[in-house]
Amino acid sequence: MTVPQISPPRRILMGPGPSDIHPSVLAALAAPTVGHLDPYFLKVMDEVQSMLREVFQTTNHLTMAISGTGSAGMETCVVNLIEPGDRMVVGVNGVFGGRMAEVAERVGAEVTRIERPFGEVFTPEEVATVVAKVRPKVVGIVHAETSTGARQPLDEIAKIVHDAGALFVVDCVTSLAGIPVEIDKLAIDAAYSGSQKCLGCPPGLAPVTFGPKALEVMDQRKKKVSSWYLDIGLLRNYWGNNRAYHHTAPINMNYALHQALRLVLQEGLQTRFARHQLHHTALKAGLEAMGIRYSVAAETSLPMLNSVLIPDGADDASVRSQLLNEFGIEIGGGLGPMKGKTWRIGLMGETAQKSNVLLFLAALEQCLNRQGIRPAPGAAIVAANALYCSINN
Ligand SMILES: *Cc1c(COP(=O)(O)O)cnc(C)c1O
Repeated sequence: MTVPQISPPRRILMGPGPSDIHPSVLAALAAPTVGHLDPYFLKVMDEVQSMLREVFQTTNHLTMAISGTGSAGMETCVVNLIEPGDRMVVGVNGVFGGRMAEVAERVGAEVTRIERPFGEVFTPEEVATVVAKVRPKVVGIVHAETSTGARQPLDEIAKIVHDAGALFVVDCVTSLAGIPVEIDKLAIDAAYSGSQKCLGCPPGLAPVTFGPKALEVMDQRKKKVSSWYLDIGLLRNYWGNNRAYHHTAPINMNYALHQALRLVLQEGLQTRFARHQLHHTALKAGLEAMGIRYSVAAETSLPMLNSVLIPDGADDASVRSQLLNEFGIEIGGGLGPMKGKTWRIGLMGETAQKSNVLLFLAALEQCLNRQGIRPAPGAAIVAANALYCSINN
Protein backbone atom coordinates (compact mmCIF):
# COMPACT_ATOMS: atom_id res chain seq x y z
CA MET A 1 0.00 0.00 0.00
CA THR A 2 1.38 3.43 -0.89
CA VAL A 3 -0.11 6.33 0.89
CA PRO A 4 0.95 9.89 0.10
CA GLN A 5 3.06 11.63 2.71
CA ILE A 6 1.04 13.81 5.03
CA SER A 7 0.86 17.48 4.25
CA PRO A 8 -1.33 19.13 6.89
CA PRO A 9 -2.91 22.48 6.02
CA ARG A 10 -1.70 25.57 7.84
CA ARG A 11 -4.42 26.65 10.24
CA ILE A 12 -4.90 29.50 12.66
CA LEU A 13 -5.92 27.67 15.80
CA MET A 14 -8.43 29.92 17.55
CA GLY A 15 -10.35 27.15 19.28
CA PRO A 16 -10.20 25.73 22.80
CA GLY A 17 -6.82 24.08 22.13
CA PRO A 18 -4.55 23.03 20.57
CA SER A 19 -3.27 26.54 19.93
CA ASP A 20 -0.76 27.82 17.37
CA ILE A 21 2.81 26.64 17.77
CA HIS A 22 5.92 28.74 17.36
CA PRO A 23 8.18 27.40 14.56
CA SER A 24 11.05 26.93 17.03
CA VAL A 25 8.86 24.58 19.08
CA LEU A 26 8.04 22.54 15.98
CA ALA A 27 11.74 22.53 15.10
CA ALA A 28 12.55 21.15 18.56
CA LEU A 29 10.26 18.19 17.80
CA ALA A 30 12.38 17.38 14.78
CA ALA A 31 15.69 17.34 16.70
CA PRO A 32 17.53 14.00 16.93
CA THR A 33 15.99 11.55 19.35
CA VAL A 34 18.35 10.39 22.11
CA GLY A 35 17.75 7.64 24.65
CA HIS A 36 15.48 8.35 27.59
CA LEU A 37 18.39 7.79 30.00
CA ASP A 38 20.96 9.62 27.88
CA PRO A 39 22.73 12.23 30.02
CA TYR A 40 21.66 14.82 27.45
CA PHE A 41 18.01 13.98 27.94
CA LEU A 42 18.34 13.92 31.73
CA LYS A 43 19.56 17.50 31.52
CA VAL A 44 16.56 18.41 29.34
CA MET A 45 14.26 16.87 31.97
CA ASP A 46 15.93 18.83 34.76
CA GLU A 47 15.50 22.05 32.83
CA VAL A 48 11.87 21.26 31.99
CA GLN A 49 11.25 20.76 35.70
CA SER A 50 12.89 23.99 36.77
CA MET A 51 11.14 26.01 34.07
CA LEU A 52 7.81 24.43 35.03
CA ARG A 53 8.39 25.50 38.64
CA GLU A 54 8.78 29.09 37.46
CA VAL A 55 5.64 28.97 35.34
CA PHE A 56 3.61 27.37 38.15
CA GLN A 57 5.16 29.96 40.52
CA THR A 58 6.21 27.27 42.94
CA THR A 59 9.26 25.81 44.61
CA ASN A 60 7.60 22.36 44.77
CA HIS A 61 10.32 19.84 44.07
CA LEU A 62 7.74 17.40 42.74
CA THR A 63 6.96 19.25 39.52
CA MET A 64 7.19 17.42 36.22
CA ALA A 65 5.56 16.62 32.90
CA ILE A 66 3.34 13.52 32.80
CA SER A 67 3.45 11.63 29.49
CA GLY A 68 -0.10 12.16 28.30
CA THR A 69 -2.53 15.00 27.66
CA GLY A 70 -4.23 17.26 30.21
CA SER A 71 -6.66 14.52 31.20
CA ALA A 72 -3.70 12.34 32.20
CA GLY A 73 -2.60 15.17 34.48
CA MET A 74 -6.10 15.25 35.99
CA GLU A 75 -6.05 11.50 36.50
CA THR A 76 -2.55 11.65 38.04
CA CYS A 77 -3.62 14.15 40.68
CA VAL A 78 -6.80 12.28 41.57
CA VAL A 79 -5.50 8.72 41.51
CA ASN A 80 -2.49 9.50 43.72
CA LEU A 81 -4.41 11.45 46.37
CA ILE A 82 -7.57 9.35 46.56
CA GLU A 83 -7.96 5.90 48.06
CA PRO A 84 -11.21 3.95 47.75
CA GLY A 85 -13.82 5.37 50.12
CA ASP A 86 -12.16 8.80 50.49
CA ARG A 87 -14.49 11.77 50.24
CA MET A 88 -13.87 14.32 47.49
CA VAL A 89 -15.80 17.49 46.67
CA VAL A 90 -15.68 18.59 43.04
CA GLY A 91 -16.96 21.85 41.57
CA VAL A 92 -18.94 21.08 38.42
CA ASN A 93 -19.84 24.12 36.31
CA GLY A 94 -18.68 22.78 32.99
CA VAL A 95 -17.41 19.73 31.16
CA PHE A 96 -14.02 19.53 32.87
CA GLY A 97 -15.36 19.71 36.41
CA GLY A 98 -17.67 16.88 35.38
CA ARG A 99 -14.70 14.93 34.08
CA MET A 100 -12.81 15.36 37.36
CA ALA A 101 -15.81 14.03 39.31
CA GLU A 102 -16.03 11.06 36.95
CA VAL A 103 -12.32 10.28 37.33
CA ALA A 104 -12.64 10.46 41.14
CA GLU A 105 -15.62 8.10 41.13
CA ARG A 106 -13.73 5.62 38.98
CA VAL A 107 -10.92 5.44 41.53
CA GLY A 108 -13.44 4.79 44.28
CA ALA A 109 -13.92 8.23 45.84
CA GLU A 110 -17.22 9.15 47.44
CA VAL A 111 -17.82 12.23 45.34
CA THR A 112 -19.97 15.22 46.27
CA ARG A 113 -20.56 17.58 43.35
CA ILE A 114 -21.18 21.28 43.87
CA GLU A 115 -23.06 22.26 40.77
CA ARG A 116 -23.56 25.54 38.98
CA PRO A 117 -25.04 26.15 35.55
CA PHE A 118 -22.48 26.27 32.72
CA GLY A 119 -20.83 29.70 32.58
CA GLU A 120 -21.21 30.54 36.27
CA VAL A 121 -18.55 30.31 38.99
CA PHE A 122 -18.67 29.17 42.63
CA THR A 123 -18.91 31.53 45.58
CA PRO A 124 -16.64 30.94 48.58
CA GLU A 125 -19.77 30.62 50.77
CA GLU A 126 -21.26 27.71 48.88
CA VAL A 127 -17.94 25.88 48.88
CA ALA A 128 -17.61 26.52 52.63
CA THR A 129 -21.07 25.09 53.29
CA VAL A 130 -20.43 21.87 51.39
CA VAL A 131 -16.92 21.42 52.77
CA ALA A 132 -18.21 21.87 56.35
CA LYS A 133 -20.90 19.27 55.75
CA VAL A 134 -18.87 16.67 53.83
CA ARG A 135 -15.46 17.00 55.52
CA PRO A 136 -13.66 15.84 52.38
CA LYS A 137 -10.08 14.70 52.02
CA VAL A 138 -9.74 16.52 48.69
CA VAL A 139 -11.50 19.45 47.02
CA GLY A 140 -11.09 19.77 43.24
CA ILE A 141 -11.91 22.81 41.17
CA VAL A 142 -11.31 24.03 37.62
CA HIS A 143 -9.51 27.38 37.41
CA ALA A 144 -10.32 28.11 33.76
CA GLU A 145 -13.37 26.19 32.48
CA THR A 146 -12.58 25.89 28.79
CA SER A 147 -16.05 24.57 28.05
CA THR A 148 -17.70 27.79 29.25
CA GLY A 149 -15.05 30.53 29.29
CA ALA A 150 -15.50 31.15 33.03
CA ARG A 151 -12.66 32.09 35.35
CA GLN A 152 -12.97 30.75 38.89
CA PRO A 153 -11.49 33.02 41.59
CA LEU A 154 -9.39 30.79 43.85
CA ASP A 155 -8.03 32.88 46.76
CA GLU A 156 -10.89 32.56 49.23
CA ILE A 157 -11.72 29.00 48.29
CA ALA A 158 -8.10 27.94 48.87
CA LYS A 159 -8.33 29.31 52.39
CA ILE A 160 -11.64 27.57 53.10
CA VAL A 161 -10.29 24.23 51.87
CA HIS A 162 -7.14 24.51 53.96
CA ASP A 163 -8.98 25.64 57.09
CA ALA A 164 -11.05 22.47 56.76
CA GLY A 165 -7.86 20.40 56.59
CA ALA A 166 -8.51 19.20 53.04
CA LEU A 167 -6.20 19.11 50.04
CA PHE A 168 -6.84 21.58 47.22
CA VAL A 169 -6.49 20.27 43.66
CA VAL A 170 -6.75 22.74 40.80
CA ASP A 171 -7.21 22.18 37.06
CA CYS A 172 -4.87 24.71 35.43
CA VAL A 173 -4.96 23.20 31.95
CA THR A 174 -6.12 26.38 30.24
CA SER A 175 -5.00 28.95 32.80
CA LEU A 176 -1.29 28.09 33.03
CA ALA A 177 0.82 30.70 31.20
CA GLY A 178 -2.28 32.73 30.27
CA ILE A 179 -3.43 34.12 33.64
CA PRO A 180 -1.60 33.97 36.98
CA VAL A 181 -1.43 30.48 38.50
CA GLU A 182 0.06 31.03 41.94
CA ILE A 183 0.64 27.60 43.39
CA ASP A 184 2.74 28.62 46.40
CA LYS A 185 0.92 31.85 47.19
CA LEU A 186 -2.39 30.00 47.46
CA ALA A 187 -0.76 26.82 48.84
CA ILE A 188 -2.47 24.74 46.16
CA ASP A 189 -1.61 21.15 47.04
CA ALA A 190 -1.76 19.64 43.56
CA ALA A 191 -2.30 21.08 40.11
CA TYR A 192 -2.17 19.87 36.55
CA SER A 193 -2.04 21.45 33.11
CA GLY A 194 -1.69 20.51 29.45
CA SER A 195 0.95 21.41 26.90
CA GLN A 196 -1.38 22.55 24.10
CA LYS A 197 -3.25 25.50 25.56
CA CYS A 198 -1.46 28.67 26.73
CA LEU A 199 1.94 26.94 26.87
CA GLY A 200 1.90 26.83 23.06
CA CYS A 201 3.21 23.31 22.57
CA PRO A 202 1.58 20.38 20.74
CA PRO A 203 -0.67 18.14 22.86
CA GLY A 204 0.98 15.23 24.61
CA LEU A 205 2.40 16.33 27.96
CA ALA A 206 0.68 17.26 31.21
CA PRO A 207 2.69 19.38 33.65
CA VAL A 208 1.84 18.57 37.28
CA THR A 209 3.01 19.88 40.63
CA PHE A 210 2.52 18.51 44.15
CA GLY A 211 3.10 20.40 47.41
CA PRO A 212 4.42 19.07 50.73
CA LYS A 213 1.00 18.19 52.18
CA ALA A 214 0.08 16.19 49.09
CA LEU A 215 3.42 14.37 49.34
CA GLU A 216 2.72 13.45 52.93
CA VAL A 217 -0.71 12.07 52.02
CA MET A 218 0.79 10.03 49.18
CA ASP A 219 3.51 8.68 51.47
CA GLN A 220 0.89 7.55 53.98
CA ARG A 221 -1.27 5.62 51.50
CA LYS A 222 -2.52 2.29 52.71
CA LYS A 223 -3.19 0.90 49.25
CA LYS A 224 -1.06 1.04 46.13
CA VAL A 225 -2.07 3.65 43.57
CA SER A 226 -4.51 1.89 41.27
CA SER A 227 -2.76 3.17 38.12
CA TRP A 228 0.73 1.84 37.54
CA TYR A 229 1.47 4.28 34.72
CA LEU A 230 0.49 7.38 36.69
CA ASP A 231 1.87 6.32 40.09
CA ILE A 232 3.81 9.35 41.35
CA GLY A 233 5.77 7.12 43.73
CA LEU A 234 7.23 5.31 40.72
CA LEU A 235 7.49 8.38 38.50
CA ARG A 236 9.49 10.19 41.18
CA ASN A 237 12.22 7.61 40.82
CA TYR A 238 12.54 8.44 37.14
CA TRP A 239 12.17 12.23 37.31
CA GLY A 240 14.14 12.36 40.59
CA ASN A 241 17.74 11.42 41.35
CA ASN A 242 17.38 7.66 40.91
CA ARG A 243 16.61 7.85 37.20
CA ALA A 244 15.12 4.37 37.40
CA TYR A 245 13.45 3.26 34.19
CA HIS A 246 9.69 3.51 34.47
CA HIS A 247 8.38 4.16 30.97
CA THR A 248 10.06 5.58 27.88
CA ALA A 249 9.49 9.32 28.12
CA PRO A 250 8.29 10.90 24.85
CA ILE A 251 11.71 12.42 24.20
CA ASN A 252 10.87 14.79 21.37
CA MET A 253 7.72 16.04 23.07
CA ASN A 254 9.88 17.00 26.03
CA TYR A 255 12.19 18.89 23.64
CA ALA A 256 9.14 20.76 22.38
CA LEU A 257 7.92 21.57 25.88
CA HIS A 258 11.44 22.70 26.79
CA GLN A 259 11.43 25.20 23.94
CA ALA A 260 7.84 26.31 24.62
CA LEU A 261 8.75 26.98 28.27
CA ARG A 262 11.85 28.90 27.20
CA LEU A 263 9.62 31.15 25.10
CA VAL A 264 7.19 31.65 27.99
CA LEU A 265 9.98 32.69 30.36
CA GLN A 266 11.76 34.79 27.75
CA GLU A 267 8.57 36.78 27.29
CA GLY A 268 8.04 36.93 31.06
CA LEU A 269 4.91 35.78 32.86
CA GLN A 270 3.52 39.25 33.55
CA THR A 271 4.04 40.39 29.95
CA ARG A 272 2.43 37.20 28.71
CA PHE A 273 -0.63 37.64 30.95
CA ALA A 274 -0.94 41.26 29.80
CA ARG A 275 -0.71 40.15 26.16
CA HIS A 276 -3.57 37.67 26.62
CA GLN A 277 -5.64 40.36 28.30
CA LEU A 278 -4.93 42.95 25.59
CA HIS A 279 -5.99 40.76 22.67
CA HIS A 280 -9.03 39.55 24.56
CA THR A 281 -10.09 43.17 25.11
CA ALA A 282 -9.63 43.99 21.43
CA LEU A 283 -11.48 40.87 20.31
CA LYS A 284 -14.29 41.63 22.70
CA ALA A 285 -14.58 45.23 21.48
CA GLY A 286 -14.82 43.93 17.92
CA LEU A 287 -17.36 41.20 18.67
CA GLU A 288 -19.57 43.56 20.66
CA ALA A 289 -19.43 46.09 17.83
CA MET A 290 -20.98 43.34 15.68
CA GLY A 291 -23.71 42.81 18.25
CA ILE A 292 -22.26 39.54 19.55
CA ARG A 293 -22.60 38.91 23.27
CA TYR A 294 -20.49 36.85 25.66
CA SER A 295 -22.07 33.89 27.41
CA VAL A 296 -20.25 34.65 30.68
CA ALA A 297 -20.25 37.73 32.92
CA ALA A 298 -17.47 40.24 32.10
CA GLU A 299 -15.95 39.97 35.62
CA THR A 300 -15.42 36.25 35.26
CA SER A 301 -14.66 35.88 31.56
CA LEU A 302 -11.36 34.32 30.59
CA PRO A 303 -9.01 36.20 28.28
CA MET A 304 -7.80 33.08 26.47
CA LEU A 305 -11.20 31.52 25.88
CA ASN A 306 -13.96 33.74 24.61
CA SER A 307 -17.31 32.04 24.75
CA VAL A 308 -19.97 33.97 22.84
CA LEU A 309 -23.61 33.37 22.03
CA ILE A 310 -24.22 32.40 18.41
CA PRO A 311 -26.37 35.21 16.95
CA ASP A 312 -29.96 34.34 16.04
CA GLY A 313 -30.21 33.22 12.44
CA ALA A 314 -26.60 32.04 12.16
CA ASP A 315 -25.98 28.37 11.50
CA ASP A 316 -23.26 27.11 13.84
CA ALA A 317 -21.72 24.51 11.54
CA SER A 318 -21.86 26.62 8.35
CA VAL A 319 -20.09 29.54 9.96
CA ARG A 320 -17.38 27.35 11.44
CA SER A 321 -16.78 25.55 8.17
CA GLN A 322 -16.63 28.80 6.21
CA LEU A 323 -14.07 30.13 8.70
CA LEU A 324 -12.02 26.98 8.27
CA ASN A 325 -12.32 26.57 4.51
CA GLU A 326 -12.00 30.17 3.40
CA PHE A 327 -9.76 31.61 6.08
CA GLY A 328 -8.01 28.61 7.64
CA ILE A 329 -9.37 29.66 11.03
CA GLU A 330 -10.50 27.05 13.54
CA ILE A 331 -12.83 28.04 16.37
CA GLY A 332 -14.68 25.73 18.75
CA GLY A 333 -18.37 24.99 19.07
CA GLY A 334 -20.19 24.71 22.37
CA LEU A 335 -19.82 21.64 24.59
CA GLY A 336 -22.48 19.82 26.59
CA PRO A 337 -25.58 22.00 27.10
CA MET A 338 -23.87 24.81 25.17
CA LYS A 339 -23.69 22.77 21.95
CA GLY A 340 -25.16 24.79 19.10
CA LYS A 341 -25.52 27.81 21.40
CA THR A 342 -21.98 29.15 21.73
CA TRP A 343 -18.77 29.60 19.82
CA ARG A 344 -15.54 29.29 21.71
CA ILE A 345 -12.84 31.59 20.38
CA GLY A 346 -9.42 30.84 21.77
CA LEU A 347 -6.57 33.31 22.14
CA MET A 348 -4.07 30.98 23.74
CA GLY A 349 -0.30 31.33 23.74
CA GLU A 350 1.05 32.06 20.24
CA THR A 351 -2.47 32.56 18.93
CA ALA A 352 -2.96 35.71 21.04
CA GLN A 353 -1.80 38.17 18.38
CA LYS A 354 -3.11 41.34 16.78
CA SER A 355 -3.06 39.88 13.28
CA ASN A 356 -5.24 36.95 14.34
CA VAL A 357 -7.77 39.15 16.12
CA LEU A 358 -8.12 41.49 13.14
CA LEU A 359 -8.30 38.71 10.55
CA PHE A 360 -10.84 36.80 12.60
CA LEU A 361 -13.13 39.81 13.03
CA ALA A 362 -13.02 40.56 9.31
CA ALA A 363 -13.64 36.91 8.46
CA LEU A 364 -16.52 36.58 10.90
CA GLU A 365 -18.18 39.65 9.41
CA GLN A 366 -18.13 37.95 6.00
CA CYS A 367 -19.51 34.73 7.46
CA LEU A 368 -22.32 36.57 9.24
CA ASN A 369 -23.18 38.38 6.02
CA ARG A 370 -23.56 35.06 4.24
CA GLN A 371 -25.97 34.06 7.00
CA GLY A 372 -28.03 37.17 6.27
CA ILE A 373 -26.79 38.96 9.37
CA ARG A 374 -25.49 42.41 8.59
CA PRO A 375 -23.65 44.22 11.35
CA ALA A 376 -22.52 47.80 10.61
CA PRO A 377 -19.86 47.23 7.92
CA GLY A 378 -16.33 47.27 9.31
CA ALA A 379 -17.50 48.22 12.81
CA ALA A 380 -15.70 45.29 14.40
CA ILE A 381 -12.36 46.18 12.87
CA VAL A 382 -12.83 49.83 13.73
CA ALA A 383 -13.52 48.97 17.36
CA ALA A 384 -10.61 46.57 17.71
CA ASN A 385 -8.26 48.95 15.91
CA ALA A 386 -9.37 51.84 18.08
CA LEU A 387 -8.42 49.81 21.12
CA TYR A 388 -5.02 48.85 19.73
CA CYS A 389 -4.30 52.43 18.68
CA SER A 390 -5.44 53.87 22.00
CA ILE A 391 -2.85 51.90 23.91
CA ASN A 392 -0.22 52.67 21.30
CA ASN A 393 0.68 49.03 20.85
C1 LIG B 1 -8.31 20.74 27.61
C2 LIG B 1 -8.69 20.61 29.03
C3 LIG B 1 -8.60 19.40 29.74
C4 LIG B 1 -8.26 18.10 29.09
O1 LIG B 1 -7.06 18.10 28.45
P1 LIG B 1 -6.75 17.08 27.24
O2 LIG B 1 -5.42 17.54 26.82
O3 LIG B 1 -7.83 17.29 26.22
O4 LIG B 1 -6.74 15.72 27.80
C5 LIG B 1 -8.91 19.41 31.08
N1 LIG B 1 -9.30 20.54 31.71
C6 LIG B 1 -9.43 21.71 31.05
C7 LIG B 1 -9.87 22.91 31.81
C8 LIG B 1 -9.13 21.78 29.70
O5 LIG B 1 -9.25 22.93 29.05
